[in-house]
Amino acid sequence: MLAQRLAATLLLATVTLGLSLPTVEAEAKSGRRAACRTQRPLKFLIRSQFVRGGVVQPAEHARALKYRVTTYGHVPGAPYEKLNPRSAASQVIGATFFGLPLRLHEKVVPALQCVERRLERTCRGPGKSYTPRAVGGLRAANTYRGGEVSNHLFGIAIDLDPERNPCCGCVAPWPDNPRCKRPSVWERTSLTKCWVESFERYGFYWLGRDKLEDTMHFEYLAKPR
Ligand SMILES: [Zn+2]
Repeated sequence: MLAQRLAATLLLATVTLGLSLPTVEAEAKSGRRAACRTQRPLKFLIRSQFVRGGVVQPAEHARALKYRVTTYGHVPGAPYEKLNPRSAASQVIGATFFGLPLRLHEKVVPALQCVERRLERTCRGPGKSYTPRAVGGLRAANTYRGGEVSNHLFGIAIDLDPERNPCCGCVAPWPDNPRCKRPSVWERTSLTKCWVESFERYGFYWLGRDKLEDTMHFEYLAKPR
């Protein structure tokens, strides 16, 4: 009897709580996923804004790097380490993308989940679908030269299937990939426009649009919630 009364009280409390909370918070409490909002990259974070003619522009690059350190945490040994006592790596969590495990910054995972839901819903059928086989997120070693700090070190970048999506503007041996002889970036990558646009819809920037033509690479450049 007491157990029944307790259960009834609990149910009433849950319902009341659920009704009185804003949607997103209620969803978080109930374990359901929050609604997805479209987002755009912050312009000053886009690589072409701070690397021009292959040269890193000090002031623009500093602004972008400071923002990343402040927002996501520091990278040991990289500039502006003192700006944030927390490291980016300490805020990285395990996630999955189409069932494949990867490690990403916790602030970026919700946006990636939005991308995945849209891909499942929208990018079906010939010319639209794509099946990832290998994904990568957080990395410990920097791959850039010339002072740039890879967004993989902050855990805010994701690579999809390097062999099928080459970086034709990267250093050797990348440009030797036979795909890089093809005339357009859309022929060099296996990704479909539907896939690229779905990432872009939720604040990811595709480096296939950059001089590097790093077609495997998406980085989250919008403002995290
Ligand atoms: Zn990458």
